[in-house]
Amino acid sequence: MPRTLVTGGAGFLGSHICEYLLNKGHQVIAIDNLLTGSIKNIEPLQCDNFKFIKQDVTEYLYIGGEIDYILHFASPASPLDYLELPIQTLKVGALGTHKALGLALSKGARFLLASTSEIYGDPLIHPQSEDYWGNVNPVGPRGVYDEAKRYGEALTMAYHRYHNVDAKIVRIFNTYGPRMRPKDGRAIPTFIPQALKNEPITIFGDGSQTRSFCYVSDLVEGLYRLIVSDTNEPVNIGNPIEMTIKEMAETVIKILGSTSQLIYKDLPVDDPKIRQPNISRAKEILDWEPKIDFEEGITKTIEWFKTQQLD
Ligand code: NAD
Repeated sequence: MPRTLVTGGAGFLGSHICEYLLNKGHQVIAIDNLLTGSIKNIEPLQCDNFKFIKQDVTEYLYIGGEIDYILHFASPASPLDYLELPIQTLKVGALGTHKALGLALSKGARFLLASTSEIYGDPLIHPQSEDYWGNVNPVGPRGVYDEAKRYGEALTMAYHRYHNVDAKIVRIFNTYGPRMRPKDGRAIPTFIPQALKNEPITIFGDGSQTRSFCYVSDLVEGLYRLIVSDTNEPVNIGNPIEMTIKEMAETVIKILGSTSQLIYKDLPVDDPKIRQPNISRAKEILDWEPKIDFEEGITKTIEWFKTQQLD
C-alpha cells in the first residue's frame, strides 16, 4: 500500500487530493497548521488509512517509516489570504518547500510541488505554455506569492538536478469546487454566496479580465497522473476554456435565477488581465484534459454552497 504525505492537506485542494488518494488505496498523512484550511474539510475522510498532524511545515518536518509520495500543497492561495499573510506565504514557499524536499530526499519519495499560473504574472504571451518565463512584479503586493512559488520551483529543480529527487512541478490554474471558503476573496466563492442572497455581485475592474476555471475533480486526476508519470518538467493543469469575470458572474446568476445586480470596484494592483493554460504538454505526457464543463462544475459547487453557513 503506497504511503503518501500531503502538506496543506486540510485546505481546499489538499482535502480533495487526500480523498482521491484514499480511494486509490493509499495510506495518507495530512499535515496542516490550519492557517487557511479547516478540520471540517477532512472530517469526512476519517478512517484507519488517514492520519492528520497539526503542524507548521516551515518549522520542522519529519515522519517515521517509509514514504512513497510527498505532495507539497501548504501555502495561502487566495489573494486575500496572501496579502494578509505575506511573510507566512514567503516562508512556506521557501522554508516549507525546503523541509518537504529534504524529507523526500531522506525517504527516497517522489515529490510534487503545487505551483501556480501566477508564476506567469501578468502574461505577455497567450495562452501560457510551460516554456514562458512570466512577467512578475517582484516588489508589488502579489510578489509575495508569485516569487515564493517561483523560488519553490527553482529549489525543486535544484533537488532534482543535484540530489536526484524524482520531483514534479504542477502549475495549477484557477480551480474551484466544494470546500472553498465562502470568504476567501476568490471570485467564485465570493459570487455564489452573493447570488444566493440576491445581494450585489462585486466585480473588480470592468469584469473584462479573463480566467480559465478548472473543476476540482479534473485537477486532482491531472495531479495524480503527473506524480505517477516519468516527467520532471513543469506541467500546466487547468481548463483552457476562458471566460471573462463578468460572463462567469452572469452564469452564476442565471443558474441560480438570482436577482443580484453587478457592481464594479477598483481592480487590485497587478491583477492579471488574461489567463489561459496551454495544456498541450499535459495532453501529450499525461493523456489528460478536463472533462467537466463550467455549467456542470459550477452547479455542483452551488449545491455545496447551499449547504454551508454563509454569514
Ligand atoms: P487553501 O488555503 O485552501 O489550502 C492551503 C492549505 O495550506 C491550508 O489548509 C493551510 O492551512 C495550509 N498551510 C498554509 N501554510 C502552512 C504551513 N506553514 N504549514 C502547514 N500548513 C500550511 O488553498 P488551496 O486553494 O487549496 O491551495 C492549495 C495549494 O495549491 C497552494 O499551494 C496553492 O498555491 C496551490 N494553488 C491553488 C490554486 C487554486 O485555484 N485553488 C491555483 C494555483 C495554485
